[in-house]
Amino acid sequence: MLGYYGLITMLEIKNAQPVPAESLESFLQKEEAGLEKVLADIEEWNKKNLVVYPVPTPEIAFKRTGIDHKRRFLEALRMDPESRTPLYLQLLPGQEAGGRPAFPVKDISVFKNPMWIAQTRFTTIREGEAVLPLEVVASACDEPDYGFDIGIWQDNNSPHSKKFNMGIQPFGNPNLEYGSQAPVHMGFYHEAGIIYLLAGFLKRTYPEMRVHQAYALSRFAFRTGHPYWGFRFMGWGLHYVQDLTQPYHARVLPGVGTLRMLWINFMDIIGRHEGKKNIVQLVSNRHLALENFQRRIMTRDLRNKDLNQPYWFALQNTEFDSKYNHFNKKYLRDVLTEESVSKSDELSREIMALMPVRLVDDPGVEFEEEKGSMDLLRTMETNQPGSVSQFANVLARLTGAAGVHSRNYVRAILATQDTYDSVN
Ligand SMILES: [Zn+2]
Repeated sequence: MLGYYGLITMLEIKNAQPVPAESLESFLQKEEAGLEKVLADIEEWNKKNLVVYPVPTPEIAFKRTGIDHKRRFLEALRMDPESRTPLYLQLLPGQEAGGRPAFPVKDISVFKNPMWIAQTRFTTIREGEAVLPLEVVASACDEPDYGFDIGIWQDNNSPHSKKFNMGIQPFGNPNLEYGSQAPVHMGFYHEAGIIYLLAGFLKRTYPEMRVHQAYALSRFAFRTGHPYWGFRFMGWGLHYVQDLTQPYHARVLPGVGTLRMLWINFMDIIGRHEGKKNIVQLVSNRHLALENFQRRIMTRDLRNKDLNQPYWFALQNTEFDSKYNHFNKKYLRDVLTEESVSKSDELSREIMALMPVRLVDDPGVEFEEEKGSMDLLRTMETNQPGSVSQFANVLARLTGAAGVHSRNYVRAILATQDTYDSVN
């Protein structure tokens, strides 16, 4: 939804001619030689530019062998090689399938029980079928959440994790099936120095790696005449860009000051673990409540065909795009997340003021277990009339950022010149 409406006001995407769908296997077979070089360059770039970067074992480097392309390609990117990557499009809530056959939800992701996409509808597309770029990018924007970053850590006991050499999983809620993807979908670049000193693992977040991989692969695919993959890789990168516009993906504990973090940490060291456990649970619940609100309200609007809401206007508004420099290697760290972090304390206060206390202020509750039995929007309205429309304005600040930074990333990919490494 963010991808589709964030890019609909970009004519380069909205009016782009339909492109022929192409399976990943076909693309990889045709471009194997070129990809060997591109992936080697990406690896060099990682070593040179990422502040913290564990070098992979040489055995996963992508070589021209003529066999088993998909698995080797995903491994070279350090993504779960079991990721599905089929030919499909994701329908927006309320969108007609246009005569295309349904694609089964259970075949889209590696997860056993992907509750959060149970309501999403997908359609199958055929090899060579003409598809709209906007629909390709928008569908691909959600794809990394289907399991790209699962089981990539050394202690995840997956068949591939040892070769990846990513180290021990830095953090992530072990109660959640998708917990191990957290350090790739979050970027903590703006914590106080002392926090990194005490908790060095917080530096080990890797969205910059994914955003650059997708950028380089997308440009390569366009250059070599595979526009379908140009747009799909673009969507992969956009996922991480959009994740980081969400303050709960850019700060460890929004709403919790450095001194309080230090105190909680001190208590934890001397054996009083309760405080730390509680705060981690609360922040995880607030994070999930926020995303649940967003998904529910945007789905509701699309089903009702009512986009007359502040967060839809903000998402589509291009007025502030040029306020930022072009999207380069510093953008995620110095521009985008800086902005997300600056909103985080206020956002945390608003969540606590407007959302049900049980969900966002009770450490005994695991949000994932509660949400199935609760209609969040209705509960908010019953508890506190007017809270849904008040929170709609809060959401507009977030969708505004998702729109601006998505379009700026897309502009950088489509630009004639590669300016990712030129910092201004
Ligand atoms: Zn994500």
